Amino acid sequence: MDLTLYNTTTGTKNKLRPVHDREVRMYHCGPTVYDFAHIGNFRSSIVYDVLRRTLEYADYHIMQVMNITDIDDKTIKRSSEEGVPLSDLTLRYENYFLADLRNLNVKIPKYLPRATEHIGGMIALIEKLLADGFAYKAEDGVYFEIAKSQGYGALAGLDLEAQTQARVTGDDYDKKNARDFALWKFWVPEDGENVFDAPFGRGRPGWHIECSVMAMDKLGETIDIHSGGADLIFPHHTNEIAQSEAATGKTFVNNWLHIEFLMVDGQKMSKSLNNFITIRTIVERGFSPLAYRYWVLGAHYRSKANFTWAGLEGAQTAWIRLKDHLGTEVGEVNSTYKKRFLEIILDDLDTPRALALAWEVAKDPTLSLADKTATLLDFDLVLGLGLEPREQENIPEKIKILLAAREQARQNRDWAKSDAIRDEVNAMGWELSDTDSGPKVSRK
Ligand code: AMP
Ligand code: ZN
Repeated sequence: MDLTLYNTTTGTKNKLRPVHDREVRMYHCGPTVYDFAHIGNFRSSIVYDVLRRTLEYADYHIMQVMNITDIDDKTIKRSSEEGVPLSDLTLRYENYFLADLRNLNVKIPKYLPRATEHIGGMIALIEKLLADGFAYKAEDGVYFEIAKSQGYGALAGLDLEAQTQARVTGDDYDKKNARDFALWKFWVPEDGENVFDAPFGRGRPGWHIECSVMAMDKLGETIDIHSGGADLIFPHHTNEIAQSEAATGKTFVNNWLHIEFLMVDGQKMSKSLNNFITIRTIVERGFSPLAYRYWVLGAHYRSKANFTWAGLEGAQTAWIRLKDHLGTEVGEVNSTYKKRFLEIILDDLDTPRALALAWEVAKDPTLSLADKTATLLDFDLVLGLGLEPREQENIPEKIKILLAAREQARQNRDWAKSDAIRDEVNAMGWELSDTDSGPKVSRK
């Protein structure tokens, strides 16, 4: 069975045709590690994960890369504000990011290259672009000349006529065209010790070149799937295509996949708008990260999703109820349901319909409890909702969530809140004791 995916470039759904038989090579634009990631970032991560799990479920092999952007304006600025070396800062937030991914049941990609570990490759690519006449040196850096690029902006549907008119006026250094972008930025005092020697001048890479190099390094010059949030279509992915294809003369990416925004009150969730929510906040407010995952799966990745706490509450209730439909025994996976599930998920990762089918299974009176359990566990290979066979002494999900919220409160040294949660757990008929191996609960 083949995966059908929507491709941003063509605006149509197409059958995936991997370059290497059934091995799918994919690259995801990962986090810039200068602060906690927000749940909008994690919407993108959850979609990458569903893509990966779907490919595995449909017997493809995968090669998966997600980069870590650990050098750019934001990371450098934050490290100098905090007075810590850049790598201390970026490693700290990389670890938080990976921990959040694990809590969201996102399988960690095998390759997680950091930009600072690929500077040599970036310098080599820039040298090639300079030698071939696609790049030029300006006062403050090395730029890619978009007028030399074939079909620049096709991914974003940009109007090329308008491009050529976008001449630089005033003192915007000596760029030839306003949209020419920096491949390399020469050292300025704010960069401090974050500087690398290069034949064309000391400095550091621009953001776009980082992804081209890390993608091609592991996956080759033509990649099957490249993905990221919809905010990356222009300029980031547009520029990645221009510089990669100029250097190799080959198609850089066969399928571009873009995840629509997570919105709050009609605006994109983002750091700069200061309307962001982290996984930590969700846990503190008494939600499981997997309830958030359930909420994400409830919207198709190509539609905007408007986040509200009431919506998350609804998702958590539904998720807990779905888990309650599993029994202790695991029987046979129902083949008719499995076939339908495959069709749905292979149709451009249609997670809302996949969830609806899971509910159909959960409520089907003709299935034995054991077969129902097996079928739901099978779907969960893709959905990743942490479904599991019921245990004999089952700790209710609500209690587990309260325990996680109490752990978070303790980490924040918020003892009043931690005590209040203990009282709540007690009131629900459970005894809580702190042991060496963490908190334990038992029925009173
Ligand atoms: P950043 O750390 O800003 O480089 O973003 C990491 C990933 O999250 C990128 O793929 C972004 O496109 C994606 N992203 C950022 N904001 C949102 C949002 N509000 N909704 C969905 N994805 C987002
Ligand atoms: Zn990228």
